[in-house]
Amino acid sequence: MPKELFAIFGDPVSHSKSPLMHNWAFRGLGYPGCYTRYRLPDGEKLREMFFALGLRGVNVTVPHKEAAYRACDELDSFARQVGAVNTVVEREGRLYGYNTDAPGFLRAIETLGGKDVLFLGAGGTARATAAVLREAGYRVTLLNRSAARLEPFREAGFEVHTWEDFRPRPFDLVVNMTSAGLKDEALPAPEALLKPVLKEAKGAVDVVYGRQTPFLALAKAYGLPAKDGSDMLLYQGVIAFDLFTGGRFSPEEIEEWMCKAFDE
Ligand code: NDP
Repeated sequence: MPKELFAIFGDPVSHSKSPLMHNWAFRGLGYPGCYTRYRLPDGEKLREMFFALGLRGVNVTVPHKEAAYRACDELDSFARQVGAVNTVVEREGRLYGYNTDAPGFLRAIETLGGKDVLFLGAGGTARATAAVLREAGYRVTLLNRSAARLEPFREAGFEVHTWEDFRPRPFDLVVNMTSAGLKDEALPAPEALLKPVLKEAKGAVDVVYGRQTPFLALAKAYGLPAKDGSDMLLYQGVIAFDLFTGGRFSPEEIEEWMCKAFDE
């Protein structure tokens, strides 16, 4: 049987663990698939490259999730609601778009407990996850550097603050939803705002994975249970794999193989 080809599209993609995760699962579950990475500087070329490379499906990472949303012929209702797509599957020449980041994130934080959450950042990932968390009964407050990105959240009824008008109060969970710390040593908000919040919090999460960010280091200095974005990455990958392979494997068996990528 010819192999189906999958990829991650983004810029950069060299750091991505997705190829390892999916290839472990393809091999372990005996599915004829192969997953590679493709650096795509121009998101508007996504559709053209998808077909030129003969792909069956892709995951999409920073900064092309909105471009992926525009490139699809069909969107599932959640992807349409959040305006961002991270998983694309081809069926009979048409592209179907999904967002698996938010359910992946929800699953990753379930074990941490507490429903009052502060998001640092208001980008595409925050937009997708805030909606899912609210549906699951969480209260989400957003703190962001720029005011402009907060506007859609304010319109959707979330409590929003810029660094200038934020007054620290206790939260159960504090989440770095920015790319601060991904490639630099930046904190996602000024230390003077973060310290009193982390002092009172019950846990901290960073969506960045694979490195100790300054935010996670600060949270640990306050003795907080803290996790990076690895669980989110794993769980969004399990859901994407299920979409790529047409629902023929259980989430448990996909996870069992995929998580081997984190031992390498
Ligand atoms: P966007 O580009 O849509 O948004 C970026 C956000 O980060 C904005 O709110 C921006 O604020 C803020 N920001 C960027 N740099 C800084 C800084 N130095 N200080 C303070 N705020 C900053 O990005 P995404 O939402 O798509 O992605 C965010 C992060 O989530 C990325 O690191 C990505 O890798 C990670 N991610 C991880 C996943 C996982 O599986 N673990 C899945 C999906 C995403 P402003 O409005 O002021 O510019």
